[in-house]
Amino acid sequence: MLNTKKDIEWSSLGFGYVKTDYRYVSNYKDGNWDDGVLSADETVTINESAGVLQYAQTCFEGLKAYTTVDGHVVCFRPDLNAQRMAESCKRLEMPVFPQERFIDAVVKTVKANIDYVPPYGSGATLYLRPYMFGSNPVIGVKPAVEFQFRIFATPVGPYFKGGVKPISLRVPDFDRAAPKGTGHVKAGLNYAMSLHAIVDAHNQGYNENMYLDSATRTKVEETGGANIIFVTKDNKVVTPKSSTILPSITRRSLMYVAKEYLGLETEEREILFDEIENFKECALCGTAAVLSPVGKVVNNGREIVYGMDGMGEITKKLYDTLTGIQMGRIDAPEGWIKVIQ
Ligand SMILES: *Cc1c(COP(=O)(O)O)cnc(C)c1O
Repeated sequence: MLNTKKDIEWSSLGFGYVKTDYRYVSNYKDGNWDDGVLSADETVTINESAGVLQYAQTCFEGLKAYTTVDGHVVCFRPDLNAQRMAESCKRLEMPVFPQERFIDAVVKTVKANIDYVPPYGSGATLYLRPYMFGSNPVIGVKPAVEFQFRIFATPVGPYFKGGVKPISLRVPDFDRAAPKGTGHVKAGLNYAMSLHAIVDAHNQGYNENMYLDSATRTKVEETGGANIIFVTKDNKVVTPKSSTILPSITRRSLMYVAKEYLGLETEEREILFDEIENFKECALCGTAAVLSPVGKVVNNGREIVYGMDGMGEITKKLYDTLTGIQMGRIDAPEGWIKVIQ
């Protein structure tokens, strides 16, 4: 078979935008979604007063397509991205893009850019970004009535280039999400307001922020773009339970893997900041890295150290098992892997 793959140095790709050949576009007007098309045009033209530009009416998703050990191109649990986007849309007064159509659009976008799917073993993946925004002019504060749903694809490099380096977190003076606010949905506005906190964290020498619950500032929630798991000294995997955390698909999958594949006890419960010094491992989880070890957490001069030399033992097992499932080296639970080609 002819190798038509793009001439890209897969292993040296970073996590940035690279234009690919096609993106999926569907428009919502007069109460209906149109049939959708694959477009070669990477630009979006909208009215200067579009709802997204004035009042940030937009939400997004993120998932990856990649090549498995037996040469298939697959996506990991895209049905959960479709479901989560539906929840985001409802909270933001946007029309749901039907979930079967979401998965079909993912498949079409990957197939149209198949030569950008990195080969097995490269560590690189084709990152997919579904998103939706209000496109018609609004000036009084109200929901748009016309929307655009798009998915673009961009190849991204291996997350852990040059080895796994544990990261440092600090507890910021800023909050991420309010009770009954929008912390549980993937709204663009959640990221806009986190930018100042992340720039400030970087200026202070930290990689990320560990947000506490805004009501009491005593409980651990998550970072700006990843959920958190801990491992207790007796090897229990625990993760914070809160209605203001974004329900990470990676975290939900890891908790299942911990219990069903590794036979570990798992717990989703409220976690006080004051108890995390008793845990032995801490890691961030999300689509980009799967798991990223946390070396230390700093809160107003108080330092909690988990260790700066690589992944903890349980974190590593979780990482190897979930990435093994994703890459087809380990049997996946029913429905987790969507084969595209
Ligand atoms: C997207 C996101 C995550 C990670 O979710 P995954 O589905 O695992 O990629 C975690 N926290 C926040 C705030 C997010 O936006």
